[in-house]
Amino acid sequence: MHVAIAAFAFAPALAIGSFLNVVAARLPEHRSIVHPRSACQSCHTELRWQDNIPIVSYFALGGRCRSCGEQFSLRYPLVELTTALLVAGCFLRFGLSGEAFVGAFFVAVLVVLSAIDIEHRILPDKIVLPAFGIVLLANIAIFPDRTLEWILAALGASLFLFLALLAYPRGMGMGDVKLALLLGAALGKAVTVGMMIGMLSAVGLGALLMMQHGLSARKMAIPFGPFLAFGAIVAYFAGDTILDAYTGTFM
Ligand SMILES: [Zn+2]
Repeated sequence: MHVAIAAFAFAPALAIGSFLNVVAARLPEHRSIVHPRSACQSCHTELRWQDNIPIVSYFALGGRCRSCGEQFSLRYPLVELTTALLVAGCFLRFGLSGEAFVGAFFVAVLVVLSAIDIEHRILPDKIVLPAFGIVLLANIAIFPDRTLEWILAALGASLFLFLALLAYPRGMGMGDVKLALLLGAALGKAVTVGMMIGMLSAVGLGALLMMQHGLSARKMAIPFGPFLAFGAIVAYFAGDTILDAYTGTFM
């Protein structure tokens, strides 16, 4: 375990989470992510530096704008905290290594994609495709003897979701098919575990909604991206263990 490195990564990771909030708010609206400074969406007052500290400021201000009192979305501290925990988790697991940096990049991309998908029901190509290229090349560079695995996992996962999309067009979109490329390139053979957990958790939540709201729940559009992201994160940290246990039990 690499507790010291993980602890050291936590604060910068919170700052990355803060940046992901800016990306999630602005990229779908085609606004610049570097300019202007963050401002209240309601009264447009620019945030002071002390009101822009990840997590701390949100709770110090009671989740409200200092100028107009508008409630800020709970998404902000949630994205920051989730990013920080997952990035620190990568360094805890893999130490100060190339693998940890690729993992940190991968989980950060999954967080921002989930935030965007929940709010806008899209998985922007502008994020998914470059991230796929970066993760694939980085994994090939770090583990050249697994090159075929990264490529086949990416293509296989994507093809699988594409066929699922043809069979059940209402459940997902082409964004999910492209996201599967990224998941395969990042997870290799463990992508099977990630996709399985993602689909089971989506079906599970669907069943829960049906029990609560009856058949009207069928009309609720639930974005599939966050479930795939959730499954991928479980698979990223525990996929090999799960695969070994499975093959040990059934093969
Ligand atoms: Zn305001």
